[in-house]
Amino acid sequence: MDSEQLREYGHRMVDFIADYYKTIENFPVLSQVQPGYLHNLLPESAPEQPETLEQVLDDVKEKILPGVTHWQSPSFFAYYPANSSVAGFLGEMLSAALNIVGFSWVSSPAATELEMIVLDWFAKLLNLPEQFLSKGNGGGVIQGTASEAILVVMIAARDKVLRSLGKKALEKLVVYSSDQTHSSLLKACQIAGIHLENCRMLKTDSSTNYALRPESLQEAVSKDLEAGSIPFFLCATVGTTSSTAVDPLAALGKIAKSNEMWFHVDAAYAGSACICPEYRQYIDGVETADSFNMNAHKWFLTNFDCSLLWVKDRYALTEALSTNPEFLKNKASQANLVVDYKDWQIPLGRRFRSLKLWMVLRLYGAETLKSYIRNHIKLAKDLQQLVSQDPNFEVVTPRIFSLVCFRIAAVDNDDEKTCNNLNRSLLDAVNSSGKLFISHTSLSGKFVLRLAIGAPLTEEKHVMDAWKVIQEEASFLLASQAV
Ligand code: PLP
Repeated sequence: MDSEQLREYGHRMVDFIADYYKTIENFPVLSQVQPGYLHNLLPESAPEQPETLEQVLDDVKEKILPGVTHWQSPSFFAYYPANSSVAGFLGEMLSAALNIVGFSWVSSPAATELEMIVLDWFAKLLNLPEQFLSKGNGGGVIQGTASEAILVVMIAARDKVLRSLGKKALEKLVVYSSDQTHSSLLKACQIAGIHLENCRMLKTDSSTNYALRPESLQEAVSKDLEAGSIPFFLCATVGTTSSTAVDPLAALGKIAKSNEMWFHVDAAYAGSACICPEYRQYIDGVETADSFNMNAHKWFLTNFDCSLLWVKDRYALTEALSTNPEFLKNKASQANLVVDYKDWQIPLGRRFRSLKLWMVLRLYGAETLKSYIRNHIKLAKDLQQLVSQDPNFEVVTPRIFSLVCFRIAAVDNDDEKTCNNLNRSLLDAVNSSGKLFISHTSLSGKFVLRLAIGAPLTEEKHVMDAWKVIQEEASFLLASQAV
């Protein structure tokens, strides 16, 4: 590592990146390349001799950027956001600079201790129950993704049950969630060895805005108990991926507790909003949960990846996931004086991710972060109103946070299939315009468009422009259909 070369190249790279952000609106939001495009543009093998930074950056401009979908564009409204910010970015830079591997406390004490402190700060912002703080048996940990968070708590829950009932009980273990739960839950079941026929994805519908009904859970649990199965894991979601449905945590938690199940709450996207007192109600009932996760890398100005997980019983995690090879033994760990995060996660190695979250919290402060969230929610509220005022469209589910679910409304003689095809065509037309990027979902057989507001650069004008493009493309499609 040559410090002077780093200084020179680093300045050039920062200039390159700053220019990218300055001109980001000039790019088509959704990359318009065809599969395999890059293969024809790059050589068959790695260079034998060093090339210059200029050559590489030229290739980034000409060959890489056309294949990039611009998640940081102010007109990116697809999926859920993946926030970048100056603070998050600087934290990433610092983490890359130190490049430590903080598997155990001793491998870099600051990494473990800062992570514990920052997760305690965050738990307090969310007003999580005290048992999730690190001063007792609980605590927080940063995972790469929500999928990993859900997997590790499921493994912890599984092993806790199997320790008391014996390994043979595995085939009787049953997992519950709604049919709106993120697919990461099923993936966790696959990896944890839970039989897929024992995964109850309970049906939801528009009568509860796609939230899980406690009666459905109770009914399913009773049926399983009668059949001799063992209910062991419930995953509720606050802000589902399709439509931001909010499962009623308190009522569900009560059923989970009376049946000695592990209760996990997934608030990957909507958790960020819950730092605002007026949205905290959506996680009321989290007191009954054993674990809770939210992604700071979605809607909290913290660059990917930074998925926060809290547990009430850290020993459930460590008993399932700890290893203690000779080459990692050290006095602090042996004396049980420290947390070794390697035992709270799947991999051994881990990055110094808390630095970027710490920088976000410090450089912006909680008040600014709350305003940031509120602004996106206000923009979504305004958009929802515009959609509901346009007779060509309908809002499909009530908006709660910053996602609007809508579609071209079916007219009397349209069957569902025709209406779905029309909306599919609208999605393609809008996204191939390059002016914005939205995504879709399916609710009760309806093809639904999703517009999620949450990119840091998004302002009112971007939302209004997006809506104009959607209206124009819809008018065009409707007119051509009428011919
Ligand atoms: N849970 C919910 C509610 C989500 O919306 C998502 C992704 O959007 C996930 C889990 C999976 O997130 P990750 O990509 O961090 O695994």
